[in-house]
Amino acid sequence: MTAIKPERPGAKAEPAPPQAIKGTHDILPGEVEKWQALERLARETFELYRFRELRAPVFEPTELFEKGTGATSDVVTKEMYTFTDRGGRSLTLRPEYTPSVVRAIIEHRLDLEGAPMRYYFMGPMFRYDKPQKGRYRQFHQIDIEVFGEKDAAVDAEIVDMAHALLGKLGVTGTETLVNSVGCRACRPPYSAALREAAGKRLADLCPDCRRKAEANPLRIFDCKIEACREIAAAFPSIQDFICRECREHFGELLASLDVLGIPYRVEPRLVRGLDYYTKTTFEIVSPALGAQNSLLGGGRYDDMMKDFGGPDICGTGFAMGIERVLSVADLRAPARRLLYVAHLGRAGREAGLALARFFRGSGVECLMEFKDRGMKAHFGRANKLGADWVLIVGEDEMAKGRFGLKAMATGRQADGTREELLAVIRES
Ligand code: AMP
Repeated sequence: MTAIKPERPGAKAEPAPPQAIKGTHDILPGEVEKWQALERLARETFELYRFRELRAPVFEPTELFEKGTGATSDVVTKEMYTFTDRGGRSLTLRPEYTPSVVRAIIEHRLDLEGAPMRYYFMGPMFRYDKPQKGRYRQFHQIDIEVFGEKDAAVDAEIVDMAHALLGKLGVTGTETLVNSVGCRACRPPYSAALREAAGKRLADLCPDCRRKAEANPLRIFDCKIEACREIAAAFPSIQDFICRECREHFGELLASLDVLGIPYRVEPRLVRGLDYYTKTTFEIVSPALGAQNSLLGGGRYDDMMKDFGGPDICGTGFAMGIERVLSVADLRAPARRLLYVAHLGRAGREAGLALARFFRGSGVECLMEFKDRGMKAHFGRANKLGADWVLIVGEDEMAKGRFGLKAMATGRQADGTREELLAVIRES
């Protein structure tokens, strides 16, 4: 914890109150219900497509991302949270999920199980990017991956699945962008053409893009600087370079999107920020979001597993940014009903404890606070909390074995055993 400087020399420094690290944020009650609703809808949606959850560790060996995400990507060169652990090993907080899934498949030989290799995951990712609206250093993604399906129809199917989820979340007005970034056969001539085009404009590009022009000219399309973007817009289009196989695959993708009735726009400069994509890339954007308008992005990565020394199994998937999606979602927190226990005296408190346990055991959300309050104060508190019912547990009630229940909205009162009152709650 840092200390605030003393105002006067000699005065004692006050410790500064603790604060979350820049680019991270708390998700507090009141907001977290929307996260829970999104997570529930995501699970439900993905499982309809026979996806299953795969949870990998938060940190991995640094080489995994260098190799998977790509040594020349912005993520690896500028954004990773990398540290050396006490054993002297370089570890990295995952900046994305795909390399971890690929590692897990190879490690556990999931490819030999015969089950569909369709996985999903939700959790935090870490990137040391410049924090701004819609861009954080700890952010959350929903990630889905499919392995062993070469057909472009599966790329269309996951785009469809993304739309199915966005629809359930009440996200409207999105646009779907698609492209093919070719393969190892056709990308080198395209990179050469880009290098040549960039070479002619070197003086006008930012220092970062000048470096990329040599190392990996495709990455120039990721630059966020407007001047570089304008220059890159006039560069050759990958669509003029992709080989026959990639062209056919792209044609299949578009045809499958048509079958599913998903409108799209072909965006030849959509190369996506990670190095591993082959053939299909796509993004779903929301014009409502301003500069950080990408809700989700993904594509195919047919070589990663093989490059990791695993079996030659292709992959395709996407990652959706939870913060961004929630900022345009129309989600209502599910309605909840609360039973408030108003207890009087020590005996009332003890009986209340057991009663609260009974109601909770029967699925009723129940709150009991252990402060000494009079009946009026109990009702004031229940009102403030928006409780639906108040259960009255005083000396008289205990003597009779019957308790009072008041419905706050109607003011109606009932009197009965705990079982009878449970029936009243269930019926209302
Ligand atoms: P990427 O893994 O870069 O393909 O990003 C996939 C999705 O994650 C994007 O479409 C965003 O919705 C989200 N995303 C990526 N980076 C950030 C970030 N720094 N902060 C918040 N969301 C992000």
